[in-house]
Amino acid sequence: MTNCIFCDIIAKSAPAEIIYEDDLCMVITNINPLAPLHLLVLPRNHIPSLNDISSADETLLGHLLLTAKAMAEKMGVSDHGYRLALNTGKGGGQTVFHLHIHLLGGKQMDDSLLSRGIA
Ligand code: AMP
Ligand code: ZN
Repeated sequence: MTNCIFCDIIAKSAPAEIIYEDDLCMVITNINPLAPLHLLVLPRNHIPSLNDISSADETLLGHLLLTAKAMAEKMGVSDHGYRLALNTGKGGGQTVFHLHIHLLGGKQMDDSLLSRGIA
């Protein structure tokens, strides 16, 4: 076990419902879903937040977005539409400091995103 729950999930020393994994990332279901579909796309490497990303991570970031798109297709929400969210820092609502992209779908997203939260 580490002091990062997502690193533990990636190492399979903590439980999670794994939807997909490859060399660079893992996709799990959110333990506290805010929409009928609420997945998290995690890089395998421990990167605390988007603030820690550099140009060396350009390929990884592209891969995370392409994976989110593929998961939306796989889970059947592409045509209806979905939301990706990437909270950064405490003030940005981030609570787990291992970079992750939220994929939310399966309902009509509230358009007052900025005042009411990600879903
Ligand atoms: P954020 O607020 O952007 O840092 O999002 C962290 C997300 O991780 C929250 O939506 C939590 O519900 C989710 N989460 C925390 N622990 C787990 C876990 N063990 N398995 C799956 N999702 C988790
Ligand atoms: Zn981690």
